[in-house]
Amino acid sequence: MKKIVVSFDTRPEIIKLAPVIHELERSAKFDVVKLHTGQHDELAENMLNLFKIVPDYDFKSMSSTSDLFELTEFLLPKLKEFYSAEKPDAVIVQGDTTSSYLCALAAFYVQIPVYHVEAGLRSFDNYNPFPEELNRKQISNIASLHFAPTSTAKQHLLNEGIDESRIFETGNTVIDALYQIKKSDQFHVSRPEFLNSLTTDQKLILVTAHRRENHGKPLSKIMEALIEILNADDSRVIVFPAHPNPKVREVLNNKNFHHKRLNVIEPLDYLSFHHVLEQSDLVLTDSGGIQEEAAALGKKMLVLRKTTERQELIENGFTKLVGSDTEKIVTETKSMLSSTKKKNTFNPYGDGNAAKKIVEIIQSRI
Ligand code: UDP
Repeated sequence: MKKIVVSFDTRPEIIKLAPVIHELERSAKFDVVKLHTGQHDELAENMLNLFKIVPDYDFKSMSSTSDLFELTEFLLPKLKEFYSAEKPDAVIVQGDTTSSYLCALAAFYVQIPVYHVEAGLRSFDNYNPFPEELNRKQISNIASLHFAPTSTAKQHLLNEGIDESRIFETGNTVIDALYQIKKSDQFHVSRPEFLNSLTTDQKLILVTAHRRENHGKPLSKIMEALIEILNADDSRVIVFPAHPNPKVREVLNNKNFHHKRLNVIEPLDYLSFHHVLEQSDLVLTDSGGIQEEAAALGKKMLVLRKTTERQELIENGFTKLVGSDTEKIVTETKSMLSSTKKKNTFNPYGDGNAAKKIVEIIQSRI
């Protein structure tokens, strides 16, 4: 039996690793140790409950750290102690958070192999998204197995000189989680009430924005665009589940951005969120995971970022990169909503079997 640590911190890491954890736990070959480095806040709690994941360790890093320096100072010694007590055969990290990078770095210091889920995403700009672009490049330097979600991500790793025998194109586990949940009985009884009050001629726009690069002025410019979008057409309704980050709340609570058809609400639980996404005519987001989910569901989308590591969506024509430019957001929203283009059927993120493929590869390599 091989001992494997799966480490996660934020909401999207829990969502994207849940299918991998379940798949590992189904195999008799693994003793799975679940490490939650982050805070058991409402966002994480909701996902842990939904996916029935009970962490074996909780580091609660956010309650004692307020920036990247403090997080590094807090996590590294804890990880040293944790790895030397548990002595795992391998560690799985996902994506690009600083905690994922630190888990990989600490594993490298004690020479434990690191397997990277969602490897090879690149924006080629270290400050967009910050600090995620550098984090994921560093994890690629450390990892011994790289699970790339798309052929583009695989190519990035090959271009960086990583041996092809260690890179596996698997699809993205976000799609596994999405398909599993949408098939479940609980999904069908979780439709939020407010969706019933929308009339058929109303166009629903789903907005999320929380990235560091959008804090402050960029978010204000996005909000100005939303008000313009609503003032230009009475049939448009916006739902904006607000990330709890105080820097996000500060802007969203500004009275200048109040409008009766702009519904700034608390973060939605995953099931409700997916009912809203399903019903949306357009998605405006700076989120990584939501870009992938919206693409898989054939949604039209504007990405509220300067760069994207999900370039394949832009090339397809149903997604545009608009940053936080008010005029661009307003113009592109109008053009997307009036476009008669067919439903997007281009989904580069896989068929929902990524976790299965990942675990089969791990079994053959560990
Ligand atoms: N999500 C959710 N409720 C919300 C907003 C997002 O359940 O109100 C889910 C969404 O389905 C996606 C994930 O959270 O899977 C994305 O998380 P986030 O945008 O925080 O992070 P990112 O993907 O940008 O790293």
